[in-house]
Amino acid sequence: ERSVAVVDLLAQQTIESAIQEILTEKNPNYEWFSERLLNGTIKDYDRSRIRTDSIIGKGAFGEVYRGTLLASNENEKDIQIAVKQLPNGAKENSKSDFLFEALTLCKFQHKNIVRCLGISTDNYGIYILLEMMAGGDLRSYLRQTRDKETKRSTLQIREMLSLALDIASGCQYLESNKFVHRDIAARNCLLTSKSAGKQVKIGDFGLARDIVMSDYYRKEGQALLPVRWMSPETFQDGIFSSKSDVWAYGILLWEIFSSGFIPYPGLSNFSVLNFVTSGGRLESPAVCPSYVYNTMLWCWADTPEKRPTFTQVIEDLELANRIYVDCSVGVHKRKTKQSHPKSP
Ligand code: ADP
Repeated sequence: ERSVAVVDLLAQQTIESAIQEILTEKNPNYEWFSERLLNGTIKDYDRSRIRTDSIIGKGAFGEVYRGTLLASNENEKDIQIAVKQLPNGAKENSKSDFLFEALTLCKFQHKNIVRCLGISTDNYGIYILLEMMAGGDLRSYLRQTRDKETKRSTLQIREMLSLALDIASGCQYLESNKFVHRDIAARNCLLTSKSAGKQVKIGDFGLARDIVMSDYYRKEGQALLPVRWMSPETFQDGIFSSKSDVWAYGILLWEIFSSGFIPYPGLSNFSVLNFVTSGGRLESPAVCPSYVYNTMLWCWADTPEKRPTFTQVIEDLELANRIYVDCSVGVHKRKTKQSHPKSP
């Protein structure tokens, strides 16, 4: 019933030799992964401990299911997880891309990067076991919290800044590990919940592989490249760096403050390229403090060297947060004074 290709990959081979196969694609991360797997740093859970329930979402490669990692003894508790599986009929190159995403995620330990608990492999395929992010993706959340009439965000500035700071912190971690993400965007961030105290994390590393080289993208043409999030040097010369991630992060900031609108509304992908190359930039969202829009513009400096590091982005946004908090404390104080006038 399942994809013959997946069965082929794993039925006759152990996971180690499957990894060995993708090692030939000369990406240093693969080596890192196979090392970790062999010395047990990445857990390969027995399939009998994984229960999968309803489907949560479908991505370019994986189908994601709600699931449970069952306790292995009475001292442990069952853990709610998200299980990412390769869909039936996956192509050969999708398999290594899929594994690559798992191994990339397993590599990171940070509060703003979705945690990978491990993998589970058997004759039928590979599952990636992820921390359950019950709030769904950030873009959908931003759209859900729009005012139906004005289409403006109903979120407080403070909440938007908190979302922005969470992601900047995850990006700073990636930057300090010299890891270039290549697809920072609201659709790739996930929320722990939709209620107070929620955190947002970078949850998708699908493009971290070599997109320009990948057959998948060549076959489908350029349409799948995230043009609206790409820096000029990326779409002109195919250069990705932490500075092109900073550019994309600027676009993500715009998405947060514009309640999940598609960047460059009204422009086709091709027009976006021309517009940005000739110096055009997104306008400030309607509800956006000027100091936050200035951070966006800094992220969109024409040359990479002029853009901030993620550490500088965080400093900027923390300052913005303090200014905002100070302002609201000021408002609060004035109100208190008015409602409790001094007795003569
Ligand atoms: P894509 O390949 O399109 O970027 P994914 O395959 O990563 O997307 O995920 C598809 C969908 O599954 C996401 O949009 C999200 O709704 C859901 N999803 C992915 N990872 C998780 C997770 N850890 N917890 C909860 N839902 C998730």
